[in-house]
Amino acid sequence: MTIRELLGDQTPTLSYELFPPRTPAAESTLEATMRTLALTDPDFISITYGAAGATRSTSRGVVQKLAESHTIPPLAHLTCVDQSRDEVIQVIEEYLDEGVRDFLALRGDPPQGQPDWRPHPDGLRYAYELVTLLREVAATHGIDNLSIGVAAFPAQHVMPQWRNQGLEVLRSKQEAGADFAITQVFYDIGQYTSLVEDAKAEGITIPIIPEVMPLATARRAHRASQITGVPTPSEIIADLEAAEDDDAARAAGVAHAARLSCGLLDAGAPGIHVITFNKHDAALELVKELPLRGHHH
Ligand code: FAD
Repeated sequence: MTIRELLGDQTPTLSYELFPPRTPAAESTLEATMRTLALTDPDFISITYGAAGATRSTSRGVVQKLAESHTIPPLAHLTCVDQSRDEVIQVIEEYLDEGVRDFLALRGDPPQGQPDWRPHPDGLRYAYELVTLLREVAATHGIDNLSIGVAAFPAQHVMPQWRNQGLEVLRSKQEAGADFAITQVFYDIGQYTSLVEDAKAEGITIPIIPEVMPLATARRAHRASQITGVPTPSEIIADLEAAEDDDAARAAGVAHAARLSCGLLDAGAPGIHVITFNKHDAALELVKELPLRGHHH
């Protein structure tokens, strides 16, 4: 079943995000992590797609492995940056050939530390163009069960200067054919509910799955806020820093993530997408706390 179809029934989805391994050692750890996560019967696993060429091909490897094992459907992240339109088409065609039907269409971030960076002259500029392209390529191949996700940004939505542009961008993604959205990380249920309500009021009705990040260390919390630009709340940092050891810190991070996730499900979220950092401990401890008993499997 594609994610679009899964979201059609009322049972909340459970899913995880992994990133492609960067070393052979990381590759075998990742396989063990996937096997352990599989025990919770996730509805899908998403695989990020990096800006550097090297990690793009490893992303393809992980997605392919999941697609071919027919156990957990992969959600393949795809980005526009640093690729020509033809290169993007080639990646889409390879994925379609392997049976991948779920895509997360993103713009991607320009590579860091390259002040002279310019967009690819023959590339796509925005995520909604990638949604359109995915629909076109699938149609050329006679595939009619594509399922496309896009990014949404609750923490940005509550900033008055971003609100209207954010909604316009989300609308352009829906109009291009997006079936659902996954959010950037955030820590305040109110940010999510205002995004969902304001979007609905504007006719943007695609399901919006919240992303939740169980933070196991203060270092990771700082790094996450650097990468996303969404500050980690000071009470989470304080609890992580006050913990006596690694286990206590992880338990504190999981407790915060569990409170947020339960509140989101109560508020009607269509699922929970758990960021794993390729580690299973915190993710599994979080899932144990979630009321996801009526699961699809
Ligand atoms: P877009 O919708 O294209 O937006 C990019 C910028 O352009 C925004 O500022 C937007 O306001 C503006 N914009 C959009 N449309 C228009 C328009 N028509 N006219 C003018 N301006 C416009 N990055 C990766 O590199 N790899 C990943 O695997 C990855 N996974 C992610 C997963 C999730 C769930 C999320 C939330 C983000 C992920 N990202 C990933 C990061 C993402 O690529 C960045 O946040 C990026 O800056 C925005 O992506 P977008 O898809 O929303 O882009």
